[in-house]
Amino acid sequence: MSELQQTLTQLRGALGEAAVLTGEAISPQHHSDWTNNAPARPAALLLPRNTEQVASALRICHAARQSLVPQGGLTGLAAGAEPRAYDIALSLERLEGIEEIDSAAATITVRAGTRLEKIQQAAAEAGFLFPLDLGARGSCHIGGNIATNAGGNSVIRYGMTRDQVLGLEVVLGDGRVLNLMNKMIKNNTGYDLKQCFIGSEGTLGVITRAVLKLAPARSSMATALCALPDYASAVSLLRCLQRELGTPEAYELMWPDYYQLGVSWLENPHAPLNDNYPLYVLLDTCATREALERFLDRAMEGEQVLDAVLSSSESQARHLWKIREASGEFPTRMRPLSFDVSLPIGRIGEFVDDICQRLEAQWPGQRSYYFGHIGDSNLHLTLDCNALPQPAPLLAVEELVYTAVGDMGGSISAEHGIGLLKRDFLHHSVDPQTLAVMRQLKQSFDPYNLLNPGKVLP
Ligand code: FAD
Repeated sequence: MSELQQTLTQLRGALGEAAVLTGEAISPQHHSDWTNNAPARPAALLLPRNTEQVASALRICHAARQSLVPQGGLTGLAAGAEPRAYDIALSLERLEGIEEIDSAAATITVRAGTRLEKIQQAAAEAGFLFPLDLGARGSCHIGGNIATNAGGNSVIRYGMTRDQVLGLEVVLGDGRVLNLMNKMIKNNTGYDLKQCFIGSEGTLGVITRAVLKLAPARSSMATALCALPDYASAVSLLRCLQRELGTPEAYELMWPDYYQLGVSWLENPHAPLNDNYPLYVLLDTCATREALERFLDRAMEGEQVLDAVLSSSESQARHLWKIREASGEFPTRMRPLSFDVSLPIGRIGEFVDDICQRLEAQWPGQRSYYFGHIGDSNLHLTLDCNALPQPAPLLAVEELVYTAVGDMGGSISAEHGIGLLKRDFLHHSVDPQTLAVMRQLKQSFDPYNLLNPGKVLP
């Protein structure tokens, strides 16, 4: 019997036959994540139902020196959950469900395989808000959100996933279970180990349970789309808004090419605002509609805002958001090469102008689209590879963009993580000493490099 077969026999003994799939029984969905980068059927797929089974699986794989790739909802955009043919994939989809809502502590305790949308709904039913929100909410798991430290639309107000996590349960590569579950806001008891696993993309441990913070439910919400004269106005408008109405729930900037594309993809392609303004911002605030209207009137008098539409119903607000959410359609409408970068907020406008010129100088006629959560210093930039010379010079484009990001002191990954796709560009944002310490950390948690090997660290 081969070593792999022996390992599988032990895994079947510990988890049961039905929780260890091989060959055709593994659905193609588990061959890659949303990127479909280099799909491969893993040597086996494990479907544990509880923490003890995860721990047994890791203990057996550790003894056999067998590599493992944790998988959540497989919506990741960095190929972080993509297995190789000789890896075993470990899906958390059966470790699912909400364990408790504690109204006094304003916390929710969940298992790692619970879909984000289910947590949002449970929080709402209990009169709270779970503020993490992203387009993949119906498919992504909270374990995946934590493992990638996901961002999304409301980071400006509530922070990243890291800011929602109070406690974690994690299984280490050798099968030891770390109980870091905690409901308290204040807890200074030595090193806060849970922080190591948040954003570690499955390379340091497998997250099995979490305690999350809940926010008060929103009492009202007003949405507006504004046309702006320039980038400086986008920043100054945000600061005025924060001073006068409080930090918005979302503040999404769109450059004109992106806005035009978003409008043209609407079912009824009618532009709510003329499409030749220099910049657009879509904002959500918990202030009343009247307060937002007065604020925008003043901003228009000061020429900080050139034109604006204020939604008068939830369906109109959704219509405005559809323009911003056009990026979800990129994969079906073009051949996208997407970037998710962070830059100092004051310099994002300058970066867009500069990178646009550099791309055009190098590949005349290129099509690039710019949008982002600029209140969080996050810019998304997508190129349509169909408008580049063929075969598309992907590596050269990536080098150009990431070098420019590095030169400006930015980050090559704002919210999607490093995974496999950005691993070889990490040096643009992380200096050699920091990389060496990251390697030491990996070595101490996973000395045999069995957990998601080849991801994050070059
Ligand atoms: P997966 O893709 O399955 O895995 C992601 C990584 O986490 C992998 O490295 C995997 O090994 C690891 N992992 C998964 N579960 C565990 C676990 N339990 N323990 C340890 N490691 C684990 N991201 C944003 O940040 N902001 C956005 O606004 C956003 N919008 C998106 C919109 C769309 C339409 C799509 C498709 C994706 C979007 N994403 C966004 C990316 C993606 O949804 C997030 O990265 C999400 O957090 C991934 O969760 P998942 O459960 O799908 O994880």
